[in-house]
Amino acid sequence: MTVTESVFATDEQRVDDLVNELLNSYPPKTTDPVTFLGAQFDAGLGWVHFPVGHGGLGLNPKLQKLVNERVFAEGAPHSGARNPIGHGMCGPTVAVWGTEEQKQRYLRPLFTGEEIWCQLFSEPGAGSDFAGLSAKGVKDGDEWICNGQKVWTTLAHVSRWGLLVVRTDPEAVKHAGLTAFVVDMHAPTVQVLPLRQMTGEAEFNEVFFTDTRIPDSEMLGKPGDGWRVSLTTLMNERVSIGGSIPAKGSGTIRDLIKVWTELPEDRKSPTTRDQVLKLWSRAEILRLTNIRANQNRKMGDPGPEGSIGKGASAELNKDIYNLIVDLMGAEGMLYGSYEMTRPSFAMGFETMQKAFLRMRANSIEGGTTEVMKNILGERVLGLPGDVRVDRDRPWSEVPRN
Ligand SMILES: Cc1cc2nc3c(=O)[nH]c(=O)nc-3n(C[C@H](O)[C@H](O)[C@H](O)COP(=O)(O)OP(=O)(O)OC[C@H]3O[C@@H](n4cnc5c(N)ncnc54)[C@H](O)[C@@H]3O)c2cc1C
Repeated sequence: MTVTESVFATDEQRVDDLVNELLNSYPPKTTDPVTFLGAQFDAGLGWVHFPVGHGGLGLNPKLQKLVNERVFAEGAPHSGARNPIGHGMCGPTVAVWGTEEQKQRYLRPLFTGEEIWCQLFSEPGAGSDFAGLSAKGVKDGDEWICNGQKVWTTLAHVSRWGLLVVRTDPEAVKHAGLTAFVVDMHAPTVQVLPLRQMTGEAEFNEVFFTDTRIPDSEMLGKPGDGWRVSLTTLMNERVSIGGSIPAKGSGTIRDLIKVWTELPEDRKSPTTRDQVLKLWSRAEILRLTNIRANQNRKMGDPGPEGSIGKGASAELNKDIYNLIVDLMGAEGMLYGSYEMTRPSFAMGFETMQKAFLRMRANSIEGGTTEVMKNILGERVLGLPGDVRVDRDRPWSEVPRN
């Protein structure tokens, strides 16, 4: 056993003991979710790689899998399901970039789901080219006055806090002029309007800021750090969307196997059997690839390799539900109600038909598949970069609509 392996084994034992203690003191089935998640956070089992006192133990992030498997098996609530954007992206960003006060203030209620978070990055003119965004922040004493529009903001309508990136220096090149803030979503100058998706739901929103004042103390990092702060969020987002390692045969592929298994024999054919098997193999390859990517990730932030799982899972999920609705025949066209609702959680897949529609977004949200391929090409494979004509020009001089 190497020194690293023996340290890992000792840490594993420590985490296992802490999980025993947590489950004994707060049996998930009889403890309310907020209390359980609060105790999990306090024990350092929220994000084990976070610092001690902030929901973690400063350990290898691989050990989180051990915690999750054990607590979920006992029916524990999932912080990521209650607060997907907060847990998957905003928490890890605050942990890396926040001041001590910000970490103390925000991480615990974020983990328990008492305070929901949203990510205010995309704008009508800046999605893939998010660094070209136009929302502005202008310094005024020890505050910043923010104006502009964000779009596709998942769960903004139930959020207490938002992770906002605005342009604070239009004369700098586009990546250098950005600054990140925590913004109070309850401020009267923040307007949240629903945007309806093809499922009928409005999971996401457009958000308008009109002279919204944000104190200096709510900045993440320093003025001009916004791009680097955002990279932390985006890398975590990709792993959070596409990097999960479900048990063999579970996750979205389980839906396909279920539909296939329940299909009357006279509607099965060698062709559809072949299609099912090909998708099953792709799901398993993705699972194994994610295990490997996870092994490579030593500590802290995920890197560009998260784009493999993100891109592959998006295309796989779409293909899986394409086949599912094909196999369902005419029933695949039936849909309940298209009446607009504003759900308090994202990505609810109550029916196969709804999952089919919602999965279309997988290759757009969190960065499109084309952009994932660019990242992999440039940052993992070292291929020549995309053409970027505006990289060395001040943002104010770049032509835009
Ligand atoms: C369900 C859903 C939830 C979302 N939630 C959030 C959220 O909570 N917060 C948030 O900030 N944003 C959110 N988004 C926005 C999402 O991040 C953007 O939609 C995404 O980054 C793409 O940007 P865009 O829509 O402006 O498309 P564009 O950037 O305009 O892209 C249009 C097309 O051009 C292609 N393209 C663009 N640039 C390149 C390039 N360099 N090389 C090759 N092809 C390229 C794209 O792949 C795409 O096919 C969400 C989106 C969806 C669908």
